[in-house]
Amino acid sequence: MSENILGRLYRAIRDVPDFPKPGILFRDITPLLLDPALFRQAVDRMAAPVRDGGVDKILAIESRGFILGGPIGIELRAGLVLARKVGKLPSETRRVEYALEYGTDAIEVHLDAIAAGDRVLVVDDLIATGGTAEAAVRAVQDANAEVAGVSVLIELVDLNGRAKLAGTELWSVLTYPRP
Ligand code: AMP
Repeated sequence: MSENILGRLYRAIRDVPDFPKPGILFRDITPLLLDPALFRQAVDRMAAPVRDGGVDKILAIESRGFILGGPIGIELRAGLVLARKVGKLPSETRRVEYALEYGTDAIEVHLDAIAAGDRVLVVDDLIATGGTAEAAVRAVQDANAEVAGVSVLIELVDLNGRAKLAGTELWSVLTYPRP
């Protein structure tokens, strides 16, 4: 992997302290999206681990996962499935709940979007505690489909989301703390 491009990708992520609440260091991908050549690099690298893997569908997680999942799906010739917050999808859905620090949250996926036996790549911008990605993996498994893996642009290594995805491949392009 070219050091140069990797360095440029890191430089295109903006760190915003105390957003959306005190104590959170938000990793903002919007500067990267402003640079189409870098955006393409990010997409290429997120798609690379499964390029020969016969992926049928991308399950993209609301909302920044949609931005990356769309072009990854086109690149892999895979259909795009949306994992949305509750109440946003118009047709019949499957709901998967997951634990937050306090309380629970949930994602929904259209029932007819993932077929039994599909190979599905889960995509999001960032993995922190892994709760969201784990719920997306469960949504795939509940549809009797196969999880090809989880591909994220950014992994916050210290929060150990990787451990929640035991048994599932996790690929990240950028890691924090920076190697
Ligand atoms: P988690 O379920 O804890 O892995 O959180 C992952 C989800 O929350 C992803 O959809 C991210 O977009 C978002 N997220 C969590 N922490 C951050 C952060 N520090 N910066 C940007 N997005 C974050």
